[in-house]
Amino acid sequence: MQKVGVIPGDGIGPEVVREARKVLDVACERCGASIDFEEFPLGAAHYLRTGEVLADETVSRLGEKHAILLGAMGDPRVRPGVLEKGVLLRLRFHFDQYINLRPVQLFEGVPGPLAGRDRKVDMTFVRENTEDFYVGLGGRVGRGRSRTDLDLVRRAYEAKFDVGIDLRDEDELAFQIGVVTKGGADRVVDFAFGLAKEKGLRLVTSVDKANVLTEVYGLWREAVERASKRHGMDREFLYVDAVALHMVRSPERFGVLVTPNLFGDILTDLGAALQGGLGFAPSGNINPGGVSMFEPVHGSAPDIAGKGLANPVGAILSSALMMKALGHPEAAKDMERAVRDVLAGGRHMTADIGGGASTSAVGDAVASRLRSM
Ligand code: ATP
Repeated sequence: MQKVGVIPGDGIGPEVVREARKVLDVACERCGASIDFEEFPLGAAHYLRTGEVLADETVSRLGEKHAILLGAMGDPRVRPGVLEKGVLLRLRFHFDQYINLRPVQLFEGVPGPLAGRDRKVDMTFVRENTEDFYVGLGGRVGRGRSRTDLDLVRRAYEAKFDVGIDLRDEDELAFQIGVVTKGGADRVVDFAFGLAKEKGLRLVTSVDKANVLTEVYGLWREAVERASKRHGMDREFLYVDAVALHMVRSPERFGVLVTPNLFGDILTDLGAALQGGLGFAPSGNINPGGVSMFEPVHGSAPDIAGKGLANPVGAILSSALMMKALGHPEAAKDMERAVRDVLAGGRHMTADIGGGASTSAVGDAVASRLRSM
């Protein structure tokens, strides 16, 4: 018996998770998987009622699960960041989910910027999830402080670069430091090569900006070189700006891309836009040796919550990623195919892509397609 913790969360989270669960139930039935789902009522309602965002005891109970399925976090009644940081980020860090896995595929019948171009787009982003410019290392100097701070910065800068920095006494300065560690890069890059191999590919694309951010991405590139040799596979290095261009111009050229945190964050939203919108994009926060968490990329979308308008596809595809991670790859493939077939049918589209189907009608259609496969 495998155990999954389900956190429906806020806004449209519970609505899309309900549909994912419908599809999961059919998938389990078909492949004989025995999964126990336990719901955890975290999110705004829980926080407003109890004053507690996420109890330590809940974290340990989630730690006993094989995976977590999450809907969305965030609510207009709660200061932005409290729930997102208190639940999502805390779980991500606690379980050291160092890989953010985001596949980008086009679906026949879904309107989007690339629709009608008859292209096979199937790229998977493996984004580093814990380091880079998101480590929170930075500060501001000069704002209402003594000029000693500024002098210190000026002197440190001049000593390092042998050129002056133009800081007037009344000036302010802000800085933020990106951090890449050898171990942090090695482990995510290694996962990317393994995934590419599993997909029958020979090449991994590494994304960076090593021509400007030479230190952090220099170290990153060394990790890619090492993994390429170790796996006996090819690698290419592309700058993030070039990747953005190619994603729109010739997305079919990509297979598996491995990216540092910040660039991965930006490019995968571009990927979601290419797919037809946030409602289609799935993701996994993965620790291959620990508890991974699967969630649609979209947020809680309070503007459409409770109206049956939410697109559940991102959540359903996230649960397919979860099934694969739980060791049921055939079930995952079938779930994806069921989504594909339903979308291609053209009758079950939610309002975000100009359709009139409700959230549950789409979930029902996918579940029933899966049942009939
Ligand atoms: P967050 O900061 O939590 O990511 P956000 O407000 O930036 O949240 P979302 O909540 O993801 O972003 O959504 C932005 C808008 O996109 C929503 O207001 C909604 O109109 C639309 N949207 C997002 N997800 C979906 C979905 N699954 N189905 C339909 N529309 C969606």
